[in-house]
Amino acid sequence: MLHIGCHLSSSKGFAAMGRQALELGADTFQFFTRNPRGSRAKELDPADAAALTSLLAEHRFAPIIAHAPYTLNLCGAEEKNRLFARETMADDLRRMEHIPGQYYNFHPGSHVGQGIEAGITYIAQGLNAILSPHQSTTVLLETMAGKGSEVGGRFEELREILDRVEHPEKTGICLDTCHVSDSGYDIITDLDGVLTEFDRIIGLDRLKALHLNDSKHPAGARKDRHARIGEGAIGLEALTRVVRHPALKHLPFCLETPNELPGYAAEIALMRAQAE
Ligand code: FE
Ligand code: FE
Ligand code: ZN
Repeated sequence: MLHIGCHLSSSKGFAAMGRQALELGADTFQFFTRNPRGSRAKELDPADAAALTSLLAEHRFAPIIAHAPYTLNLCGAEEKNRLFARETMADDLRRMEHIPGQYYNFHPGSHVGQGIEAGITYIAQGLNAILSPHQSTTVLLETMAGKGSEVGGRFEELREILDRVEHPEKTGICLDTCHVSDSGYDIITDLDGVLTEFDRIIGLDRLKALHLNDSKHPAGARKDRHARIGEGAIGLEALTRVVRHPALKHLPFCLETPNELPGYAAEIALMRAQAE
């Protein structure tokens, strides 16, 4: 069975998200660990985290994805920004141990003119400062659209970061269909070719989850504007090939499309039907 869910608001707590996911027909979901633009996280309620942990097990959820605030930048130009990103991510990882064995996804960063090599170096250093061999969470680097000075728009950049990480078994990749298309990978007409390249450069065994999004812009546009499934340049047929692909179909898929909850429920049902 297809593992699919959507991005949910964490404002009502952990267990509430699990119940909401069930209502939507999901068996995975994603949430921001804290206000995406702010920095303060709510006090963690261990009983609420434990309630979600048992709901996930009882309903055989695929791993869920905690998403780091997208304003964090492990490779910012100022040291205080780099350290802030590290500290926030380290705090998120400590909190995630209350919901063991899940995924923590982050945007590698933007090198803001320092150059791709400096960006990669800072990101790897940041990860090495926060990854612990004892954590149960797997940290996922998201494939990016290559907008501005974003690091992670090319598979080679992600491979380079993974190569420098001291606990590779605690890391993996989350492939965002909108982002890879925007960054110039032709998943619309040559999904097999893109996955062959991913396998050659990074290794398909490192791919742990996907963000399933259509794109408002054509391949290579480097824009990063998500569209609803079937309403963008990628289209329903190409996204159906993604969820049916033998190398991908066992992985958790998470929708980040511009939708309210009923729209998400409809897309989850649509993709479940398409995957049959
Ligand atoms: Fe993201
Ligand atoms: Fe994404
Ligand atoms: Zn995006």
